[in-house]
Parts: sequence; structure tokens; C-alpha cells
Amino acid sequence: MTAKMAVVAHGGAGPGPERQSNLQAAVDAASRLLVSGASAVEAAVEACVILEDDPVFNAGTGGVFRIDGSVLLDASIQTSDGRVGFVIAMPDTPNPIKVAADLLDENINGLAGEGARIWADERGHPKREVEGRAPIEGDGDTVGVIVRDSTGSMACATSTGGCSHRPPGRVGDVPLPGSGFWVNERIAVAATGEGEEITRALLSYRVGEMADSDECHSLEDAMKWGLEKLIQGKAPVGLIAISSVGPGAGLSNTEMPWASWIED
Ligand code: ASP
Repeated sequence: MTAKMAVVAHGGAGPGPERQSNLQAAVDAASRLLVSGASAVEAAVEACVILEDDPVFNAGTGGVFRIDGSVLLDASIQTSDGRVGFVIAMPDTPNPIKVAADLLDENINGLAGEGARIWADERGHPKREVEGRAPIEGDGDTVGVIVRDSTGSMACATSTGGCSHRPPGRVGDVPLPGSGFWVNERIAVAATGEGEEITRALLSYRVGEMADSDECHSLEDAMKWGLEKLIQGKAPVGLIAISSVGPGAGLSNTEMPWASWIED
């Protein structure tokens, strides 16, 4: 099968247009990789690494402190051929998405905390204190990337330091399948914003199912339904999605920076 290659990425549920150029750099890198023959997983991971290394985003290097001052990072990746990898509250790991990606072909899906770090040590993932930064007031700037490659395979990579003002053991939506991300053979979705609300709604899975149903005519319709019907109150939440054809899309109830690319 051949498909039009495509990329869509977000820079969190609220930092607005000032993050657009930082985000565009990651989308451009992913599109160049795809054009040179990279797989969806390779392109999604590389774009996510660029965003983790950029200190303006709440992921990797710029992960926000937990309330005890620690920097504990979550990341996840899922593919349209049914593989998944995620890490939860991982210490001393500037690029947790690489550890999550290393789990794709293992017989375990997810690892948490010190155990995740021990496993990463055994696999040679660099161990380094992550600088982090002070909690953010207002909506966060977590990252997510979805890629479709020339074979039609899709991969979704997400990474965060977690919402601000959360305790060290807190688990947000980003490492939870169906909550912060969901991918099947036809659709890929990633969420950002208030993780507790996203998790309660099982948002990515349900938006993906809606996008796949006859009730729905576009990715935008499905995301609008998810934000309006599944998210309670004023929780800041944004979504990106891609299907097996056409360009990726983004929608948020805040000023979410998002960018996309599709092959000519
Ligand atoms: N959803 C992330 C979390 O709750 C934060 C974010 O997207 O800004 O950890």
C-alpha cells in the first residue's frame, strides 16, 4: 500500500502562536525524514526529541517541576500495527520518548519511575539530571506528534513533564493508552491539556471511535464532539488527529499551537 505522507504536531493546550516556529521546526524535520525514507515511528520519535530538547516546551529538558521540585517525565508512542510503549514519571531522562520507543518491540508495554530508569540504564539510554523549569501558570505546553508514512503506517508520540502543581507520583493522561493517545489502523489521536479531565473522558480513544463512525464526516467533527461533549467545565484541552488519508488536523478549546504537513 502507498499513502500520502503526513505530519501533525501540537505544542500544548494554550501557549498560543509564540510557540509556532518552534513547533514548525519539528514538523519540518519529520517531513524531511519521511521524504528520505524514514518510517512513521522514526519520524515521530525524531520530531518529539526535537521538542523535548527545546526548553520552551513542557517535555524533556523543559519539563516542569513537581511540587517537591523533582522533574519526572511521561512519554508514549503507539503505532497503527498495534504496538505501544510508555514511560511514567521517569527521572533523569532528557528524552523519555526514546525509552518509550524502545518498548515497542518488548513483551512489556510500560514502565514507571525508578524501574523505568533501571531498564533504560540496561539499554544504554543516557542518564542525566533534567534541568526542568518552574511550574507554568495557565495552560501547559506539552508536545505531541502524529506521522503517517508512505506505507500508510501511523505513529503517535507524546511527551510531557505533566501538568503544573502535581505531586511526584501523579500519573497524567500522556502515558495512558486511550486517554492521552490512541492509534488503530485507521486513525491516530493525541490529546493535551488537563490530564485528569482527559483521562476521565478516555478522550483519545473515544474521539478516535467517533472519527471512525458513520456519524462523523471529518476529523474536525470528531474532535469538536470530544471537546464539547466529553470535556466537563472549563478544562483546557486540545487534540490533534490523522486518518489513513488526507491531512492531519488540530482543534482546541484554548490557543493550542499546531502545525501540519502533507506530501504534495
Ligand atoms: N496532559 C498533560 C498532563 O496532564 C499536560 C499537558 O498536556 O499540558 O500531564
